[in-house]
This record gives sequence, C-alpha cells and structure tokens, in this order.
Amino acid sequence: MRLPHFDYAAPTTVAEALRLLAEKGPGARVLAGGTDLLIRMRHGLVTPSAVIYLGDIAALRTIFYKSKTGLTIGAMARLVEVVAHPDIRRRYPAVADAALETANVQVRNLGTVGGNLCNAAPSADNAPTLLALGAEMVLAGPKGDRRVALDQFFKGPGQTVIAPGEILTAICVPPPPPHSGAAYQQVSARGKVDICAASVGAAVVFAGETCQEIRIFLGAVGPTPLRALETENLVRGKVFTPELIEKAGAKAAAESRPITDMRASADYRRQMVGVLTRRALLEAQKRAGKH
Ligand SMILES: Cc1cc2nc3c(=O)[nH]c(=O)nc-3n(C[C@H](O)[C@H](O)[C@H](O)COP(=O)(O)OP(=O)(O)OC[C@H]3O[C@@H](n4cnc5c(N)ncnc54)[C@H](O)[C@@H]3O)c2cc1C
Repeated sequence: MRLPHFDYAAPTTVAEALRLLAEKGPGARVLAGGTDLLIRMRHGLVTPSAVIYLGDIAALRTIFYKSKTGLTIGAMARLVEVVAHPDIRRRYPAVADAALETANVQVRNLGTVGGNLCNAAPSADNAPTLLALGAEMVLAGPKGDRRVALDQFFKGPGQTVIAPGEILTAICVPPPPPHSGAAYQQVSARGKVDICAASVGAAVVFAGETCQEIRIFLGAVGPTPLRALETENLVRGKVFTPELIEKAGAKAAAESRPITDMRASADYRRQMVGVLTRRALLEAQKRAGKH
C-alpha cells in the first residue's frame, strides 16, 4: 500500500519541533528511524496528518557518559551507534547487547533506541535491560522538560505516558555501581528476522559474594515489560549457587504472563523465561566480576 498524503517537517531544534507539534495538533506524529512508524503507515494502521522528523536535530543524536550522571543516549541515536559506542561497550555492555539483538543491520542503521521504547511493543528488545538498569526518560513539552522513570513509562501495548505535544529527547542511565553487572537474553523463533518471543534483562549489585541489589524485567510475556519482583526477592541477600539460580528461573517463569500467538505458545514462552533468567543472572554475575 502506498503511503497516504501527510504534511512533513524536519525541524533543526527541539523548540521548533515542539512548536510544530503544537501547531499541527493531535494528528501529528514524530518520526525517528521510521522502521516502526512508516510500516504502520504503509499498512494503514496509523494515518497521521503531519509527520515531524527529528533526525535533523543534532542535539538529539549525541551519546555521552559522565561519571557523576551516567550515560545519556539522545533520542535520535541510532541502534548501530549504541552498539558501537566505546563507553556503552565498556560500562554498559548489556545495553549494547540489547541494541545488537534488535532486528538486522539494515534496521539498526535507521532505527533508534528512543523509537524502540516510544513504540512500546511488549517485545521491544531495548526495554528490559534499560529497565533493569533504572533508566529514566527525558520528555520535552510545552511546559518544559520532565523526567519519567522507565518503569513508569509504559501503559500498555503501544501506549506510553508521553503526553500530546511532548517528545522524548534522551534516555539517561545511572552510573553503574561498583561490583555490578547486567545482562540481556532473548529468544526468537526465526532469529534476526523476527521480534523476540521472550526476553530478560537483569542487573545485579554484589557486596562481597552476596547479591545486595537486583532488578529483573521480562519482555514479550505481558502487555508491558514485567518486573519479576518475586524473583528479585528470592535472590536478594543471597549468594549465587546453582540451586538458587535454578529456583530463580522457575520463579520468573511462574511470574510471567505470556499469551499464545503466531510467534510462540504461552508454554514455550514461560519455559524460555526460566532459561533466559538463569542465563541473564549468570552473565550479570560474571560481568560484576563474581564468578
Ligand atoms: C524487519 C524489522 C525487524 C525488526 N526487528 C525488531 C527486533 O528484533 N526487536 C525490536 O525490538 N524491534 C524490532 N523492529 C521494530 C523497530 O525496528 C524498532 O522498534 C526500532 O528501534 C524503532 O525505532 P525507529 O527509530 O525506527 O522508530 P520510529 O518508527 O521512527 O518510531 C516508532 C514510534 O515511536 C515514536 N517516536 C519515535 N521517536 C520519538 C521521540 N523522540 N519522541 C516521541 N515519540 C517518538 C514514533 O512516533 C512512533 O510511534 C523491527 C522492525 C523491522 C522493520
């Protein structure tokens, strides 16, 4: 299907983008890499009256790390840039892993982490790790900037707390604490050409051999990424042993809320959550230097 008619604008500043959004009203949509939006438009699932492309706003493309504030990923930083960024590879390797697990190289050359999160698919590859790491979303709107914890950002499939007239400008990830590690694990039935059937992001902080803090998020097994709170409670304050890791996998599987669809059955997804949780915990432990 051909794309329907729409107005197009490519502002070069955030202020101009916000002014255009206000002027064009509720029918306007923001365009990042277009790997979700343009496909939905082509299928007639969304019919925006205006499309506002953010890729010409240089300030939104930057990625930088500061020891006090941590990592900032501009909303228009492309997935390939996140995969390759030296600070991300060194200090947040799970963030690079998740970006690398997203789609194929053609899509990663265009697509952004910001677009992946704003699209709010339950299977979004970049969500579980950033959630586990306690990321925040910076939203700019007519009344100024506000920050929203990523774990308060998703409202349902395709739905977020972004208000009309707002755009995401950056994703901020706190500095990694000492003796911490994170990992992302996912499985998809058809490899890189398909979105995942289940995924797990985990972040752990150790005090000596004890797991002092832990956050685990499950993707594609609920309407939004799910926090595995019972699994966290099981693991927190304990030393990782093979028995504990086994129990954690079983607990996470029990906490997941998968459905059966064309990609996988609910049973398969539940079993995979167990496997992926075990793998993610062991990888996170290794990255924390505790193995
Ligand atoms: C062949 C193929 C394979 C794919 N495989 C995967 C996969 O394996 N894993 C996966 O997670 N995804 C996958 N996707 C989906 C998609 O590529 C990703 O979600 C990508 O990261 C989207 O980013 P984008 O920049 O292209 O977003 P866009 O399509 O430009 O935007 C997506 C949505 O977010 C909104 N938006 C974007 N930026 C902002 C902003 N700054 N502020 C407010 N709203 C904004 C848009 O209005 C739109 O609603 C795949 C897509 C294709 C076509």
